[in-house]
Amino acid sequence: MADSPLARIIDGKAIAKLVREEVAVSAKRFAEQHGRSPGLEVVLVGEDPASVVYTRNKEKAALEASVRGKLHRLAADISEAELLATIRRLNEDDSVDGILVQLPLPKHIRAEAVLDAVDPAKDVDGFHPVNAGLLSSGRPHLVPCTPQGCMRLLKEAHTLLDGARAVVVGRSNIVGKPMAALLLAANATVTIAHSRTRDLAAVCREADVLIAAVGRANMLTGDFVREGAVVIDVGINRTADGKLCGDVDFESARQKASAITPVPGGVGPMTIACLLENTLTAAVRRVGATR
Ligand code: NDP
Repeated sequence: MADSPLARIIDGKAIAKLVREEVAVSAKRFAEQHGRSPGLEVVLVGEDPASVVYTRNKEKAALEASVRGKLHRLAADISEAELLATIRRLNEDDSVDGILVQLPLPKHIRAEAVLDAVDPAKDVDGFHPVNAGLLSSGRPHLVPCTPQGCMRLLKEAHTLLDGARAVVVGRSNIVGKPMAALLLAANATVTIAHSRTRDLAAVCREADVLIAAVGRANMLTGDFVREGAVVIDVGINRTADGKLCGDVDFESARQKASAITPVPGGVGPMTIACLLENTLTAAVRRVGATR
């Protein structure tokens, strides 16, 4: 039997650029019509180096897409009450369309209380229980950015979802669960796998579309991939030698898959692009206009 060809690589960087360009066009039109740009406020508590880089990238990407991005840096020892007061102020500020609180928060602050305080209409991360509920009721409003980005990657890769078998590995509120809800809404037959799933490899091999959102370097090898499956790797991990890698063992998985996202350059760039898209969506809905 001849060797199967290597999987096509789904270029998240290029697709994210496309999304950012789309947002920029609509954001400029929004500014012409409403006399202000869509506004995104990013709240960062403390000095966690990775969070500092992420939030700076979000602010920069916003400005490049004609979205007014503003970074609020707050001291690591700010009280929960003070942080909640900041969120309330941003909720009430009419020029603010999107509020993002960078996670993780310091231990003395309850992340849930802070995320729940964000006005659902400005919740561009899509983490508020109101937005989670709307998504699972089939009435999505603001959808978490990473799964939304995965859906766009699947679309750009012309993946057939209607009737397809999809397996999502991971059941977090920010990736796994909303991802499953979006796939279900697209008429896939969805299985959610997690740390208690028995014979994970066999479950994954059922998938026409395999989404990995686990947080374990190179865990899903080619043995987990059905011949011809489309593989989306959400994981961002570092190997012992400091290299960035996904949850999927790229080299062995690409021998089986028909299409696959790399890490870096796959899902990662889509998350920020979809954050900008959500900010625009929130802005448009808040002024009652159409995009
Ligand atoms: P969480 O730690 O919140 O969730 C991980 C999930 O994986 C859990 O549901 C857990 O199961 C499951 N899991 C852990 N170990 C196993 C195992 N051995 N077998 C099967 N399932 C397992 O992570 P997140 O959802 O927040 O993130 C997942 C990955 O995606 C991380 O690498 C993260 O860095 C990355 N990420 C990337 C983003 C991007 O922009 N590209 C954005 C967000 C996250 P259980 O529930 O049973 O514990």
